[in-house]
Amino acid sequence: GCPGRLLELKGNIRVLCRLRPGTPSSLVSLEPGPGGSVTTCYRGHRRRFRLDWVFPPHASQEEVFRELESAVLSCLGGYSVCIFTYGQTGTGKTYSMEGPPEDPGIAPRALQSLFREMGTGGQHRVTLSMVEIYNEAVRDLLAPGPPQRLAVRQGPAGQGGIQVAGLTHWDVPNLEALHQMLSLGRSNRATAATTMNQHSSRSHALVTLTLRAAPPRRGPATAGTLHLVDLAGSERAWKAGAAAGTPREDRDSAQRLREARTINRSLLALGGVMAALRARRPHVPFRDSQLTRLLQPALGPGATAVLLLQISTRPEDLGETVCSLKFAERVG
Ligand code: ADP
Ligand code: MG
Repeated sequence: GCPGRLLELKGNIRVLCRLRPGTPSSLVSLEPGPGGSVTTCYRGHRRRFRLDWVFPPHASQEEVFRELESAVLSCLGGYSVCIFTYGQTGTGKTYSMEGPPEDPGIAPRALQSLFREMGTGGQHRVTLSMVEIYNEAVRDLLAPGPPQRLAVRQGPAGQGGIQVAGLTHWDVPNLEALHQMLSLGRSNRATAATTMNQHSSRSHALVTLTLRAAPPRRGPATAGTLHLVDLAGSERAWKAGAAAGTPREDRDSAQRLREARTINRSLLALGGVMAALRARRPHVPFRDSQLTRLLQPALGPGATAVLLLQISTRPEDLGETVCSLKFAERVG
């Protein structure tokens, strides 16, 4: 890896790919590095997918972050950066984004790197907000009191922004406070869930850090933003509704199917937005989902989006792996 490389990617969408460690399989083979590729052999059909960057198998958390660090730090210069983890449930999205405490992922590394770079000079005011989107409902994960569903509105005309009514923004004095807030947000997410794993596989989690130069610089870009987005599982709807039987199970699976459809709509909308941005189409369908509405300011001109595609080598996941790679091909 060459640190600094992603800085050249400003104003673009880049797709990186990471394999969840597992038994090697001849059905999924990698050609790692910049401009690397993944080749799949699905139903006797070979297909090669090119990506902007393919990490070698067993790439470390540090190796992954090294490719992202310069993009993360560009927020301090007023840029907007959005990092997503995308993929089927169980492929390592949360592992890459959060990581276990003993081997932290992108989010903790990014925050540490930002605070290290800012030093103690107090030249930036840092604020944090944290939401989840579940079944197209947006919830504040840091608001005191019981969770409320928030309304997402178009901001004042001419400002092009989005307003989330009632969303709390918290001042972050230092890294320690930031970590406390993040763990509060994570626990708020967990308490609402019947089972954490089910819930987290169906909801999108968005952490937004805003960095305002203090005193404000002249020019339009006085605030940089970093969005860290752990997306819902990308698996298709039919899987979620597969286990039907008794009336009770039917009801449950109907609910699951509904959830899966909503998730797919958000992910589909994200794909549609990225594809439109990539093709420089005049109309970008930001309004198609809550996810894309919320991220509209972060995906506009001059912003950098990085999609970290997580895939598995398991033969039974191959269909989903091909779907994920097709998604990447469409947006990258
Ligand atoms: P997802 O968020 O996509 O559903 P997880 O991040 O929860 O997937 O990962 C599923 C399991 O695989 C977890 O037990 C996680 O610790 C493990 N895992 C994923 N990626 C890695 C990795 N690169 N190295 C070690 N373990 C991993
Ligand atoms: Mg997860």
